[in-house]
Amino acid sequence: NGSYPNESETGQTVVIGSSGFIGRFITEACLDSGRPTYILVRSSSNSPSKASTIKFLQDKGAIVIYGSITDQEFMEKVLRENKIEVVISAVGGESILDQFSLIEAIKNVNTVKRFVPSEFGHDIDRAEPVEPGLTMYEKKRKIRRLIEECGIPYSYICCNSIAAWPYHDNTHPADVLPPLDRFQIYGDGTVKAYFVAGSDIGKFTVMSIDDGRTLNKTVHFQPPSNLLNMNEMASLWETKIGRVLPRVTITEQDLLQRAQEMRIPQSVVAAITHDIFINGCQINFSLDKTTDVEVCSLYPNTSFRTIAECYDDFAKKISDNEKAVSRPVTASNTDIFVPTAKPEAL
Ligand code: NDP
Repeated sequence: NGSYPNESETGQTVVIGSSGFIGRFITEACLDSGRPTYILVRSSSNSPSKASTIKFLQDKGAIVIYGSITDQEFMEKVLRENKIEVVISAVGGESILDQFSLIEAIKNVNTVKRFVPSEFGHDIDRAEPVEPGLTMYEKKRKIRRLIEECGIPYSYICCNSIAAWPYHDNTHPADVLPPLDRFQIYGDGTVKAYFVAGSDIGKFTVMSIDDGRTLNKTVHFQPPSNLLNMNEMASLWETKIGRVLPRVTITEQDLLQRAQEMRIPQSVVAAITHDIFINGCQINFSLDKTTDVEVCSLYPNTSFRTIAECYDDFAKKISDNEKAVSRPVTASNTDIFVPTAKPEAL
């Protein structure tokens, strides 16, 4: 909207991990902003749903490059030949250390104006979850330290939680409906967290890479309208589905036990869920470092989607699917989602 300083308004951008959950939101926002957008796709990536995501992004204007960030020489060539100014990485939790060779490539090419490493969660220099969450944070910390050592211009995106029901065993909760049978409430359900729509994670990330004020800063997403506790989330969902559901307590001990099971990635999610809803890791600090910036202060005229709006979308999916199942089953609608008492993958 022109109200913030632009550094490289239409700089060539490469997104890594576009076929993934967070990467797709980022890539869509990049394309919507009109930036020339390249997406790096591993040739080994051949699942039908990922292929359809790539096709969708390609149709929207993304330019596909096949390869892996672990191939440093290749990455240097990609960055040089395409005059890449912005690199955004959204590789998954298991690939965090793959970014080492990407950072070396960015350092050697020395023309990248902004690098956003794969974070998209909490401030990993502040939060201290139990294992195995901590191991993942330690990997992300190593990446931060290497970026800083190499003098690469960066922004760290701390967008907090995705706007969805925060299941403690699902890495991508926005893919799943909120509960339809009972709520599992962590502890007493009073600890608040920020729930941000995926499209806003993309939108504000892309806004911040063009902004001199976010250079070498940690960018926190703390929209007051999206700060809710689990009891409030449950009541909100009840208003959307028009009925009251039973509430079951998942204690701190339960979450710690799930974390200790060391099932990856579920135990990582349990550890981080514990940190959010028991320790209050999203709200138990103030933005008092010179490297902290907050998106609502940076862009006061741009609103966030509220969690109520996101829950409207989930409720609409239920009613759309109910309408669909009430139609006679034909060859064209046999694979649709059928609502049951339990949350289902959409
Ligand atoms: P996904 O597992 O959904 O996707 C990872 C993507 O990275 C895939 O496209 C994958 O490609 C690609 N990738 C992995 N390794 C390489 C490589 N070496 N070269 C090129 N591409 C590669 O990741 P998520 O979206 O779950 O996670 C992204 C980030 O967001 C993580 O840091 C995670 O911790 C965070 N996150 C935050 C959430 C929140 O609520 N705040 C929720 C979920 C994640 P391929 O298709 O080939 O496998």
